[in-house]
Amino acid sequence: MPELPEVETSRRGIEPHIVDSTVSRIVVRERRLRWPVSKDIDRKLPGEKIKSVDRRAKYLLINTASGTAILHLGMSGSVSIVDEGTPASVHDHVDIEFDSGLMLRFRDPRRFGSLHWSDAPLSHPLLRDLGPEPLGDEFDGAYLWGRSRGRKVSIKQFIMNANVVVGVGNIYASEALFLAGINPRRAAGRVAKHRYDGLAHAIRDVLAKAIKAGGTTLRDFYGGDGEAGYFQQQLEAYGREDEPCRRCDTPITAIVQGQRTTYYCKQCQT
Ligand SMILES: [Zn+2]
Repeated sequence: MPELPEVETSRRGIEPHIVDSTVSRIVVRERRLRWPVSKDIDRKLPGEKIKSVDRRAKYLLINTASGTAILHLGMSGSVSIVDEGTPASVHDHVDIEFDSGLMLRFRDPRRFGSLHWSDAPLSHPLLRDLGPEPLGDEFDGAYLWGRSRGRKVSIKQFIMNANVVVGVGNIYASEALFLAGINPRRAAGRVAKHRYDGLAHAIRDVLAKAIKAGGTTLRDFYGGDGEAGYFQQQLEAYGREDEPCRRCDTPITAIVQGQRTTYYCKQCQT
């Protein structure tokens, strides 16, 4: 599933090819995605010039003067830039064509993605209740500490809640808790403020490293399949069950929390 770093890499991959271009046509071959592709898109996007491509959580926001196309990649979606006339394959559901002769192509084999149009994207029902961006200024240890008071949910499930902070997927949550030395089973309300400072730092660090790793794939967005893939970085805990902890040699433990596997070191994470 594309996580925040893959979506951010997609944003960086497509933006330079479409900013300042005007949409000449939109072709929707399959409207039945997670939600039906909004017909407003067909009516309102053609003729508009792209001002910027932003990201909020895992949504790409393709901004024009009169509104924004909100694109979610779902479980298996990807975007690429191709030359006009490039034949579409069976999973290429939407093309946005530009006056430059290029097209933005959205492929989504499992069709869990979505495409909406909004005049006020940040107040759109999909986006308005989301927590802050982990790489933004609002997010720090004091914020997490304040939000967590009185919460009995585990710290791991707390940081994976998009209403608390967006973009901390399962792998990144395990890794950040390992780096911060916090036991993933600990109740969120029982983690001290200075430990939240370390955790916020660790979350930023693992996401920033993954985005940096994705930078090596940017050229693939033009003419390629736009598949950013999962950015391999050295994982400290995730996927290392029974392998020695890199800090203390204790075998890494795997447990299930909220139907997701958590990996941690019983010795280092308290
Ligand atoms: Zn350890």
